[in-house]
Amino acid sequence: MLYRGSQAVYGHPETHQLSSTGHATATMSQRSSHAAIAPPALMSGGYCRRCAGEHRLGPGNTLDSCRELMRFFADRGTIDLLSTRPSPDPALSTAWLFGQARGKMFGVMECLAPDGSTVTLRAFSGQYNGLWLVEGWVPPLFDVDEFNALCTDTESRVKELGREIDCCKPQSDVWLALRKQRRLLSRNLMQEIHSLYRVTNFRGETVPLAEAFIGTNGIPTGAGDCCAPKLLNYAAKNRLRPTGLAEFYWGRENRSGSRRHDSFNSPCAEKCRPILGFMLCGLIGCDFEKETQ
Ligand SMILES: [Zn+2]
Ligand SMILES: [Zn+2]
Repeated sequence: MLYRGSQAVYGHPETHQLSSTGHATATMSQRSSHAAIAPPALMSGGYCRRCAGEHRLGPGNTLDSCRELMRFFADRGTIDLLSTRPSPDPALSTAWLFGQARGKMFGVMECLAPDGSTVTLRAFSGQYNGLWLVEGWVPPLFDVDEFNALCTDTESRVKELGREIDCCKPQSDVWLALRKQRRLLSRNLMQEIHSLYRVTNFRGETVPLAEAFIGTNGIPTGAGDCCAPKLLNYAAKNRLRPTGLAEFYWGRENRSGSRRHDSFNSPCAEKCRPILGFMLCGLIGCDFEKETQ
């Protein structure tokens, strides 16, 4: 199964992955001239209930790895990092990021493996062109087979209800009841999907997303799908110790204009910060600031 695939699938010793394309050496000398400028406070973190303070992880050495990845995208036009094929999978083309779908956040995390070697992990936020799993990128916080089974099951029930609704007299009692049932089904699906998400922290604790999330208004859609949670979860599950994390946006700017092509961003406040405190807990060497009253 891809999930439990060897570390080599997702983690690569520094420069191994991109050097195979011949880009790493070229980027070394060009790094300082790359246009993307990191904001001064590029921190990933959040409040931890257990420690009553904020855990934070800085970018460490990952800005250069991000720039290397940006250059790879720009030169190769694909997120297919491992392919040696002359024409990479069209589903993984970066052209998709500049169209209707708009751009996406990408994240790079550097970790220390138990044997002392450096491992670089990479993530894209959410799905890439409908794909949760792409070789060379960390997986999401849930089992993709379970996720697909749940969605297929619900979709077929929604379709079935649709057929029944079409056969009923509009506005009749049965028609209204069936429509209500269909609405409920879709609403419950969101909750059921969230119940599949599990997060592991550096104390070795694994909990449902809802337990890690700090907030009173419920979990927003897409929480746990961003780069930082995917990367931290993968590292914690694989006994890797993160030493730096950075994220950048690539592609057509988002609707609100808050994320622009070729720019570094900190993890989002609405979906990531409420879970990052839990996720970073137990990480040796990460920043901690005790709450002051
Ligand atoms: Zn986020
Ligand atoms: Zn803590």
